[in-house]
Amino acid sequence: MASTGTTWGIIGASTIAREWMVPAINAQPGSRVAAVASADSTRAAAFAQANGIPRSHDTVAALLADPSIDAVYISTTNELHHPQAIAAARAGKHVLCEKPLALTLEDARAMVEACRAAGVTMGTNHHLRNAASHRAIRRLVMDGAIGQPLAASVFHAVYLPPHLQGWRIDRPDAGGGVILDITVHDADTLRHDLGDVNVLEITAMTASHGMGRDGLEDTVMGVMRFDNGVLAQFHDAFTVAHTGTGIEIHGTEGSILGRDVMTQRPIGTVILRRGDREEIVDIGQPNNLYERSVARFEAAIRGDGPPAATGEDGIASLAVALAARESASTGRAVRL
Ligand code: NDP
Repeated sequence: MASTGTTWGIIGASTIAREWMVPAINAQPGSRVAAVASADSTRAAAFAQANGIPRSHDTVAALLADPSIDAVYISTTNELHHPQAIAAARAGKHVLCEKPLALTLEDARAMVEACRAAGVTMGTNHHLRNAASHRAIRRLVMDGAIGQPLAASVFHAVYLPPHLQGWRIDRPDAGGGVILDITVHDADTLRHDLGDVNVLEITAMTASHGMGRDGLEDTVMGVMRFDNGVLAQFHDAFTVAHTGTGIEIHGTEGSILGRDVMTQRPIGTVILRRGDREEIVDIGQPNNLYERSVARFEAAIRGDGPPAATGEDGIASLAVALAARESASTGRAVRL
């Protein structure tokens, strides 16, 4: 269906908005960013000017009062997503919100409910579902290429670049820490790649290896048990500069090896191994993950299918992350 274009408001003068999401919106036929809101008027104006956005506001309320805006993209620090999403829904705006949706499940559920009550579309910006690599992995799993999935591993340890070493490593109140930052993505990607499964139980251990402060973890390892029987191990970190990312799914008839696929960029390869045969899977044309996220969200606004990740998907990934934190702090496995 041809796009008629969506007029967006950006809530949060953030790095992700600048690097990926404003360009992704501008790439949609007929869509545009009309305004940005920041808590700081100077930052708002500078962000607007640098990104070709006509208007800037120093309150979210002022942005939401603009009747030309159809949808908002929220990428403030994590503690602000909840009040901002609820305000946007009440103002009748569609809401595409960054992960983690909120700091508590109660708040995340309230956000989804506010959007439902207002009749607006809600999405969670779990970008990895939009990667050609992960869509190929999901197809292989669903088509039975590896038989019954038994086990998985996610390698998602990275080195947090200096320009992002802010609230993520020293502000527990803003939802810092590697679990809320990266484990949410692992949970969502596994749910997606394994074919819409859910985590039943999780166990996790954390560490602070010099980057996390004020009690925030910069490293986590753990195991998730899924409702299809799969056990998945994961390693997420802000402190590992010399490894690649990846995902592996092992089944009764074969294994899928995704190399360099837990990333923002459209890179990586998918390998299918069965017996002594190994093939590089044709994943089709790599696409910009964020452009597809916006495209799917705009299609959902038009009634053409759900967003790539819904609000409910955001609740599910947050539930896993919060359970991982609880497991790490109590030393016990946590059932969801
Ligand atoms: P940033 O630290 O870049 O921005 C977060 C907020 O920090 C901004 O909204 C802004 O507040 C404030 N801020 C920005 N620059 C300054 C500054 N110079 N001084 C003081 N405050 C400043 O965060 P990210 O872009 O890294 O992350 C934002 C959200 O997006 C998070 O929820 C994160 O989890 C998510 N994210 C998602 C990704 C994905 O791929 N799905 C990838 C990266 C992040 P104000 O708006 O008031 O100006």
